[in-house]
Amino acid sequence: MSYIIGSKCVSVCDTACVKVCPVDCIDGPITIGEATEEEKVGKQLYINPDVCIDCGACLPECPVDAIHPTEEWAIRDGELEYVNKNYEFYGQTYKLKT
Ligand code: SF4
Repeated sequence: MSYIIGSKCVSVCDTACVKVCPVDCIDGPITIGEATEEEKVGKQLYINPDVCIDCGACLPECPVDAIHPTEEWAIRDGELEYVNKNYEFYGQTYKLKT
């Protein structure tokens, strides 16, 4: 189980979540904190599912409410695509629980 960053992060990449994560497991395709507004367009941040300890510290920090507390939660909110994108960013495949 992992926290999942969803669609609301796209083109925002606020990085407030990165600053509070105790295990440094939030990453982006661009160097966090050094991106211009133009560089952020179409990009988002991701949470490493192998490292996330489900502490919840990131959740209240996101100014656009982009973080889901579980994969199932994200899927319920119609964001399976973002669960898959998150796992793929770390070279993994999310296995949907049935
Ligand atoms: Fe980091 Fe905790 Fe958020 Fe997981 S839940 S990404 S460990 S701050």
